[in-house]
Amino acid sequence: SKEKSGTYYHFFESEMSNRNLESIKLENALYKALDNDELEIYYQPQIDSKTNTLIGAEALLRWIHPTEGMVSPVNFIPLAEETGLIIPIGKWVLENACRQLMKWHAEGHTELSISVNLSGRQFEEDNLVSMVEAIIKEQKIDPECLHIELTENQLIRNTGVTIKKMKELKKLGVKIAIDDFGTGYSSLGYLKNFPIDALKIDRSFVQDIEHDSDNAAITDTIITLAQNLKLNVIAEGVETQEQLDFLMSKDCYIMQGFFFSKPVKATEFAEKYFINSST
Ligand code: C2E
Ligand code: CA
Ligand code: CA
Ligand code: CA
Repeated sequence: SKEKSGTYYHFFESEMSNRNLESIKLENALYKALDNDELEIYYQPQIDSKTNTLIGAEALLRWIHPTEGMVSPVNFIPLAEETGLIIPIGKWVLENACRQLMKWHAEGHTELSISVNLSGRQFEEDNLVSMVEAIIKEQKIDPECLHIELTENQLIRNTGVTIKKMKELKKLGVKIAIDDFGTGYSSLGYLKNFPIDALKIDRSFVQDIEHDSDNAAITDTIITLAQNLKLNVIAEGVETQEQLDFLMSKDCYIMQGFFFSKPVKATEFAEKYFINSST
């Protein structure tokens, strides 16, 4: 049995080193991704369904790996967070999304806002607020058009520091939305302490609202909560006319989802929404 455990040990060891090798490979590749221009931002429209007009876009990161093809952020953002690479990558996203917004504003689409996701690690950086401020100044964008998305779980980590930081961000003029609302662990009591502007209803609740009465009830409750707290409410993951109708019947009008468009490249976004645009 000594021999057996020895075998197990070796098996385990080689499994471990294989896994490490894979993640080291991916990590090295991710390091180079930024320098090699393999990162790209896709944009998903946010639509006001009352007027059927475009009001904004969420910036969603894509990694075009030279051999693996498109890697989902679900697969590399966690690694970027573990390694700290999320700091330079997140800054790059913010800069480039703001630069893109500035271009679109310069072309006359001045009502457009841009939503950018911040990871927990990024939010915890000491210089986060000054970085955001510098980018706003550099890109000369109207700070009100920059919407920062934070998840619920990020907020409850260290509430004192978090609230202070959010207030500093708000002082710059930027808007703050809580992403994936309803999936985290914050209590409703927290909500009123955070200087937030909007709730984004998680896709998992919007899914199937036409058939799943629990999802319908939760979605309805989040919308009512947002209305009572005078917050904007954005529905994400809207895929069908039935979902759209349900949401509108509950007075939720800001929509994001495949029913309107998947996230697309900036050029495609412009072709789709700005008839005379070249960028
Ligand atoms: P998220 O912030 O909740 O972004 C929404 C996700 O839902 C996006 O996935 C989007 O493509 C997808 N989605 C939108 N509408 C629909 C729909 O109707 N149906 C379905 N099935 N999916 C829809 P994506 O682009 O793969 O991003 C996944 C997550 O990766 C994001 O979730 C966000 O948490 C993270 N992420 C993406 N870009 C960044 C970034 O620049 N920084 C950070 N920190 N995280 C990012
Ligand atoms: Ca988001
Ligand atoms: Ca979300
Ligand atoms: Ca989500």
